[in-house]
Parts: sequence; C-alpha cells; structure tokens
Amino acid sequence: MPEKTQFGVIVTDRVAQVHEHPLRPLRPTEVLIENQSCNICTTDYQQWMGLRPQQPKPMAFGHENSGVVIEAGSEVENVRVGDHVVINNYHPCMECEDCRKGRNSVFCKFRQSVRTRPADAYGYFGNYGCARYQIAKSKHLFRVDPQVPFEIAGLAEPLSTVVHGVKRLRLRTGEKLLVLGSGTMGNLNAQVARYFGAEVTLSDVSEKKLRTARRLGFDRTLNAGDPDYFEKARALTGGAGFDIIIVAVGLTEAYNQAMEMIADGGKLLIFAAGYPKPGWNVDPNAVHYKLWEIIGTFGCATEDFQDAVGLLNGRKIDLSPLIEERIPLEQIQQAFEKASTPDAFRIAVLLGGS
Ligand SMILES: [Zn+2]
Ligand SMILES: [Zn+2]
Repeated sequence: MPEKTQFGVIVTDRVAQVHEHPLRPLRPTEVLIENQSCNICTTDYQQWMGLRPQQPKPMAFGHENSGVVIEAGSEVENVRVGDHVVINNYHPCMECEDCRKGRNSVFCKFRQSVRTRPADAYGYFGNYGCARYQIAKSKHLFRVDPQVPFEIAGLAEPLSTVVHGVKRLRLRTGEKLLVLGSGTMGNLNAQVARYFGAEVTLSDVSEKKLRTARRLGFDRTLNAGDPDYFEKARALTGGAGFDIIIVAVGLTEAYNQAMEMIADGGKLLIFAAGYPKPGWNVDPNAVHYKLWEIIGTFGCATEDFQDAVGLLNGRKIDLSPLIEERIPLEQIQQAFEKASTPDAFRIAVLLGGS
C-alpha cells in the first residue's frame, strides 16, 4: 500500500493546488483505488470561481473520477483487485428505508454531503475524487468495462443524474423534446432522452457546442442568438411547442425561453442550478390552464447509477466528444482555468503515473 497520496485542492477563490497527506490503513469494508482520471464538474469550477460560497474550503474536490482497485479490505465481496471502478460519491447508506425504496440518494438521512460533512483529520472537505489514491467503501463502487476509457467512465456520475431526471419525465416515444444548453450536461441529457425514444432538439448560443451535437447525429439544433430563434423553434413542432423542455443551463433567459416554447400539457425539467440564482416569473394561471408540469431534479438513486454504468459498458451513447482536454494533476490551476472557459466541455485531470 502506498504511504501517501497527492490530490487536487480548491484552496481559495481562483487558486487550486496539489496537496499531499498520508494514507490511513483500510477498514475491512473499504478499498483503495488508484484513480486514473477525474473530470472537473461545473460544481467544482464554479466553486473555484467563487460562485458557490456554501461549499466549504479547502475543498479536496472531485466526484467524476475513475480508477483501478489496488487493495481490498478483508470483508469486501463485490469488487476485486484489478477491477476498473467508478464511485457513487453521493454516499447513500444503502440500508435505510429511503435507500431501500430506491429513492434519490439525497433523501438518505444517513448520508453526509460535501456541504454537511465536517473537515477531515487533515482539515479538508470533499470527496478526494481528484486524488491519486482514494479510500472508498466497497458498497459505493460500480465495476466498469476496462475497455471504457477512464475519463469517459468518470462521466458515470453526471450521467446517472441525467438518467434520474429523464426517468422523472416519464418519456413516451416520439415526444418532441428541447434541451436548453448544449454543454456537457445538456448533451448528456439529449443523448439519454434520445436513447429513451424522444425526438430531440438542442439549443445553445455556442456554435461549437451545437456542432458537437450535430456530430453526434442531432440534426435539430437551434442557435439561441439567432434573431429567428423562436420562429424556428415553433416550426420544428408545427407551432404546438415542445412536449418536454429540459433546462440544462441555470440562466434566467433559459427559463423565460422555456415558457415561450413549451406545449400545452408540456413538462419542464429543471436540471441545472444557477449561480447567481436565476430569476423566473411563472404565471400560476398558465400552469393551471395549460396543465404544465414543472419537475425538479438533482442527484440520483443507486439504481440510476447502475443504469448509467450500463449505458457506458454497453456503448449505448458516445461521450468521447465531451472530453475537451486531458491535463495532468501537476497543472491543476491551468485545468481550472480551462474548465471555467464558457465554451469548454469537460476537462479531465489525469491522475496516473505518480
Ligand atoms: Zn458534478
Ligand atoms: Zn440511506
């Protein structure tokens, strides 16, 4: 067992560094993972930018990581040394009533999130996903096909939240669905919704993001900066509006656009949080008379994580265009600078080769 680990830390606003501390011995139900990659998520780079003051610092950030099991405690049964794994960093207890009912892990009363968990013995908050070595409970691990690249496997976590949201929509085949925001999360939403049978349109102000969508076979894309945007959107639905709109960007404009383009009886999925908090004027009478459904989503249930891993292992969707760049841990500050540029997809921090 290695004696120490290096990990990425958000130290203060706009400052990320590599820190190091000793590794403690494994408990019987724990494993030691040698992480190979960790993607920088919106949550991470927005904290780095200073937009999420509710997330404590110093933050040993990272939850889109993947790696290889290199040691397993004496009572571990579900994974073996050599397995490629991803970790459910929501840390559901798996034993309480809510977990056993298959509810979203955020309802588990015995889970501690990065916001509620106190600092560890070394003074850090967070999941240590962006660490070369990470100790995890075996019950939170999912085995990934070794053919799936590590940085793609790391997308299992965001993918699981998308699977959760799309399930909440109770999609029917052929429903016309619009995704507002075509970055990593919008693209994942579009791919999962298409897999479940929706006729998907993507929208964004970034031509680069729309190009990526088209490359993945989405021929219905809308540039939200186009002066004829609403007209073109209406034309795609024969004037009726979209049956379903997924808001995958936390901006006031996106919410207002959604209310312009949703069909009577339509469903609106609020996938993205926005910082600063978006404003939104919703007419309750319109919700009433037009029978709109406004659905929130965040996090996932354990079964969604398993389904997401199934999508990855079965090559059901193509996530390779969503990795913008691979940057080694030593350059963690540059990785955050890249990740926080508006046009970027995911930046993968490479953790192997210590
Ligand atoms: Zn995330
Ligand atoms: Zn629980």
